[in-house]
Amino acid sequence: MKFDRIDMNALERELITLRRDLHSCPESGWTEFRTTAKIITELEKLGLPVKFGREIHTPENMYGMPKPEILEECYQRALGESDRPDLIEKMKGGFTGCVAVIEGELPGPTVGIRVDIDCNDVSETEDPGHFPVANGFRSRHKSCMHACGHDAHTAIGIGTAKILCAYRDVLKGKVMLVFQPGEEGLRGAASLTATGMFKDCDYFFGGHIGLKDTHYGLVAASSTGFLASTKFDAVFHGAPAHAGLAPNLGKNAMAAASTAVLNMLAIPRHQDGSSRINIGTFRSGTGRNVVPDEAELTIETRGITSEINEFMEKSAKRVCTAAAEMYDCGIDINFMGSAGGVVCDPEAVEKAKKILPTVEGVDEIVENFDFGAGEDVTTIMKAVQSHGGKVTEMVFGMHLVAPHHNNRFDVDERVIGLGARCFASLALQIEE
Ligand SMILES: [Zn+2]
Repeated sequence: MKFDRIDMNALERELITLRRDLHSCPESGWTEFRTTAKIITELEKLGLPVKFGREIHTPENMYGMPKPEILEECYQRALGESDRPDLIEKMKGGFTGCVAVIEGELPGPTVGIRVDIDCNDVSETEDPGHFPVANGFRSRHKSCMHACGHDAHTAIGIGTAKILCAYRDVLKGKVMLVFQPGEEGLRGAASLTATGMFKDCDYFFGGHIGLKDTHYGLVAASSTGFLASTKFDAVFHGAPAHAGLAPNLGKNAMAAASTAVLNMLAIPRHQDGSSRINIGTFRSGTGRNVVPDEAELTIETRGITSEINEFMEKSAKRVCTAAAEMYDCGIDINFMGSAGGVVCDPEAVEKAKKILPTVEGVDEIVENFDFGAGEDVTTIMKAVQSHGGKVTEMVFGMHLVAPHHNNRFDVDERVIGLGARCFASLALQIEE
């Protein structure tokens, strides 16, 4: 489909500018205040009704919320960086993300489209050869970087809205456009799905850029191999003591956590398929001569099936509990997020296979792209499926200069316009 009602070159330039702006001020899960305000401002310009703040969330399902002081710090930072404090104030407490509905003028199905908006806890390289450094839009936020392309995803979402708004008279049904917070760590989707917002979706399309080193123009109509995953923190509680005068009175939480780390990494592989485990951070200790009384680990398990992930999760928790016991420490295990495996529906995949080749810039369609990671979109896909809707997750190919979540990751910016054209074409041609 050709979008000749729009100056696509001008739109692409505009979306790239937006992406670079978002890249320079990345915000991690539940702190996407400025990002959300920016998105809402763009959607309002189109005259779209936008829902955001508490009305799109269920607080009991907002997993992996940052500590209150970090949330507050990020909130204040966003207030200082945004020209829309009126919007940001309504997100206080982490109620980020937003949902817009584009009503077509003709009757038809409800199509859900979701993009994610959060960044990674990564410090962006300062290498002058890195494209964002060379072009002056490197991350200004310490330890925050869009290293998974969600800045581009956000721009794709805005581009999709802009195209669809120009074609409302031929749009059959309506499009629900979801800007999801907290994808990293699989934290944000459950809060959205529990509101029931996806219950009327007949079709649902998600999409991710990159993931593997491919080329611009390749689009996957469906994905497989979503790893089921669980995220949890283990907090070991011991007792402090003078390391010289009375070490016997201490209970060494660091020793317990260390034992847990090494033994979690020794959990056997599963005969039924692949699994993963990672202990990403380890915090402990207060001083050289004090027996450490606290230790905190952030842990994630993954499996190619929910059963294998469950095996990994159970084993990891058993190791943590036993290691705490070994050093006479207490332990709290705190759930932080999860996603299950999901299978794309043939009905949605067939639509994508038929429509995507008509999109300008697409030169290769593949099926069953091996996703090879957990994705919070699977929580939404399952919610849509539970009401009878048909789902698929696309991948927009590009050459990778560095892997995802790496501090040198970058985006082939042509994929932004292409992604927007793909989503808009699906919405406009779904009934043909
Ligand atoms: Zn991602």
